[in-house]
Parts: sequence; C-alpha cells; structure tokens
Amino acid sequence: MNCTSSCESKDHNSYAECLQSKRLGFMGVSPSRDGYDQTKVKKDDKEIQDYWSATRQGIEPRSTRRADIDAAVKLSNEAGKAFDGIKMTFKN
Ligand SMILES: [Zn+2]
Repeated sequence: MNCTSSCESKDHNSYAECLQSKRLGFMGVSPSRDGYDQTKVKKDDKEIQDYWSATRQGIEPRSTRRADIDAAVKLSNEAGKAFDGIKMTFKN
C-alpha cells in the first residue's frame, strides 16, 4: 500500500507519487464527491508540508499521517540520523 488513505485511485507507485497527485488535486478547482471540505484540506495540506519538510532532511515517514511524521522526525532527532520508515532503519 503506497497510497494515502484519502487517495481515490490507489494506483500510485510510491507515497511521493501519490502525494504529488494529491497536491495537484488541491490546486485544482474540482470539488470531491463529498463536497469541498476546507478544514480537512488545510489539515491534510499541513501534514503534507511537514511530510515534505521531513523528506527534505532525508527522513522518510512511514505514511503521511501526523503520527508517523512526528514519530519519524522524533526518532531522527534522537538518533542524529535520518529515519527511514519504509525500511524501518536509520540512514547513515
Ligand atoms: Zn495514490
């Protein structure tokens, strides 16, 4: 499972790919089937920003969920190395 829970197509090859398509969706004007939920979009958008901020440091959260992002950043800070949540190991 590479896709985020809110992904509709679930056919992406990686989190990054899924996030990119998601991100493009946010910039588009078409509302989702459930209607446009500004609160949810803002929350998701913040998570994605934090996710990208972490990945820019070499950290790879297991998912785009807040808990996974925070855990990966915390582990990385404590270890002084970037945590790779996909392989569940630290990068050198
Ligand atoms: Zn996807």
